[in-house]
Amino acid sequence: MTGAEHLPIRRPTACSWCGQPLSALRAMRRDVCERPSCLQQHDRRMLRESRARVAADLRAQQVPRLGRERAGALRVLWIEPHATRLVDMPEDVRRTQLDHLTRVAHLARLAADEGAPAAPPAVEATAVPRAAAGLCGWCAGRCCRFGADHHAYLEAGHLLRWALAGPGRTLDGAVAAYAERLPARHVEGSCPYHGERGCALEREMRSDTCNRHACDGLRELRSSATAAPQADWLFVMGARAEVLGIRLDTRGD
Ligand code: SF4
Ligand code: SF4
Ligand SMILES: [Zn+2]
Repeated sequence: MTGAEHLPIRRPTACSWCGQPLSALRAMRRDVCERPSCLQQHDRRMLRESRARVAADLRAQQVPRLGRERAGALRVLWIEPHATRLVDMPEDVRRTQLDHLTRVAHLARLAADEGAPAAPPAVEATAVPRAAAGLCGWCAGRCCRFGADHHAYLEAGHLLRWALAGPGRTLDGAVAAYAERLPARHVEGSCPYHGERGCALEREMRSDTCNRHACDGLRELRSSATAAPQADWLFVMGARAEVLGIRLDTRGD
């Protein structure tokens, strides 16, 4: 028998988040009470810690390739996975989008008849740091799932903008142009324009919502990559701390 077996087990007496006393039974299992906000914070901390351990392993795996110093400095960015099964465009999805285009073209026509405003200016393209450029392509558009419920966020102003962008263009032409770009196969359950190679619309035809959107991961990447453009990145696609795929994005020297 060793001395270690006689050491008393120290149980927490209070919730580590709110300080509320823990029952003896609760304290045997964890250091958090049953309040939802405490459980949520506890869960977030556990996830952060698990991901930090996984990130350390992933950095270590890159040592042969990048050397100890660069591998140790790798910035690890987690993004959420999503299913990307391609299917033939369902007829009801195509039909719903065509109806939507026809409806917003009608609204654009009414607005134009009332002498309403010129088309809204397009969203300016923002400078994209090197690492950010590859992230969305690799992610393959998880955020585009939301476009499914919003007709790709297209409104009258977008069609009007297309119609006013060149001589001889009309709103009927805009409907036809947007209809033509509906891909034959798209990502099941996602935006109708979410096709095999990402968005089937040219950037200037996309909605302002699409052109402005950045998920938390992309925002984090943009701000870090702007501050440290030479940093090396490891993108991790993961469900909680389980790694489903990785992509190394290095400065390439
Ligand atoms: S913005 Fe985020 S969720 Fe959307 S495609 Fe880019 S990385 Fe994926
Ligand atoms: S229009 Fe393009 S960028 Fe916008 S949600 Fe659909 S697939 Fe994504
Ligand atoms: Zn608590």
